[in-house]
Amino acid sequence: MEHPENDEQYKGLKVNKGIAGAPTINPYLTKKLQRRQYTPSEFVEGILQGNITILSQAVTLVESAKAEHQQLAQEIIEKCLPYAGQSVRIGITGVPGAGKSTSIDAFGMYLIEKGRKLAVLAIDPSSERSKGSILGDKTRMEELAREKNAFIRPSPSAGSLGGVARKTRETIVLCEAAGFDTVFVETVGVGQSETAVHSMVDFFLLIQLAGTGDELQGIKRGIMEMADGIVINKADGDNIEKARLAASQFRSALHLFPPSESGWTPKVLTYSGYYKLGIREIWDMIGEYTAFTKQNDFFDQRRNEQSKYWMYESINETLRNTFYRHPLVSSALKETEQQVLNNEISSFVAAKRMMDLFLRNSER
Ligand code: GDP
Repeated sequence: MEHPENDEQYKGLKVNKGIAGAPTINPYLTKKLQRRQYTPSEFVEGILQGNITILSQAVTLVESAKAEHQQLAQEIIEKCLPYAGQSVRIGITGVPGAGKSTSIDAFGMYLIEKGRKLAVLAIDPSSERSKGSILGDKTRMEELAREKNAFIRPSPSAGSLGGVARKTRETIVLCEAAGFDTVFVETVGVGQSETAVHSMVDFFLLIQLAGTGDELQGIKRGIMEMADGIVINKADGDNIEKARLAASQFRSALHLFPPSESGWTPKVLTYSGYYKLGIREIWDMIGEYTAFTKQNDFFDQRRNEQSKYWMYESINETLRNTFYRHPLVSSALKETEQQVLNNEISSFVAAKRMMDLFLRNSER
């Protein structure tokens, strides 16, 4: 009997049949959770149609550390490659507070209004420590984040700078295949991140501020040599004169450098990201640069050099990962490290031992 309380012996007691409770999971969500994984061809088809949801999912695969995701990602990238390469890739760097996000918002809206499609990516090697990147955060680019022709993606967070940079470079391929004709890669001057960005863009833009007393600090870090254009932000209000002065200091400093490989002389401009002044001039400068370097073939040469660089980077990364993830190596590594710390063996002997262990036990 369903309800023993309804038995004769409990007179006066009547328990009704209950009604079924509502399911604890929203049926729509259940269906979504059970969604079948797309095949590589389905991914590629979605990307080529400019489907942003599918593009985002593919980027997530690129960023994933799981071997099966990586394999799928590589297949997708391989299939997208023939459709990539058609964008202008622009690296944007500047110290925190230089106005990168304000400027990217302003540059981006200018481009969107001109009918372009813009992807904003970021490389932030510190993002693993800070658990989530401040670069490429949508809330920092309020206007742009609402545009359907803008795709904003924060920095991949896991891994070494080389790993983060490789993922961003692969994401560029996917964005280009999805029809984005302009790609921004944002970074801050941390460690080697600027060099990493430089190795994947056509034009490298350095945002500087006037009146900080260290206008030429970029020179020390070798950043100025990498810049194809230097732009002094916050040239508004009382700051206009100071910005102009800083610009002329930069121009004379640039004369101290040997001529660039491209034959292009880097330009120095002043602008205001906040008040949207001087934005068109910056874009015109980039247009002039691409026309100039396409004519003298440097544009393609630079991309070819970058492809070569990334081939070696990928080899190095794979070698490093295969070595450190090898079960024999990883189990012996700590003990060997301790022997070095105890001065029982030298670092070189230790390294050789580990390498021999790896090479003897690797497939040939
Ligand atoms: P980021 O750290 O390089 O991304 O810099 P932000 O874009 O967050 O800007 C830092 C601060 O500078 C913010 O308070 C902005 O409002 C301000 N700022 C950015 N661009 C300009 C500008 O063109 N003029 C002025 N006066 N302030 C600006």
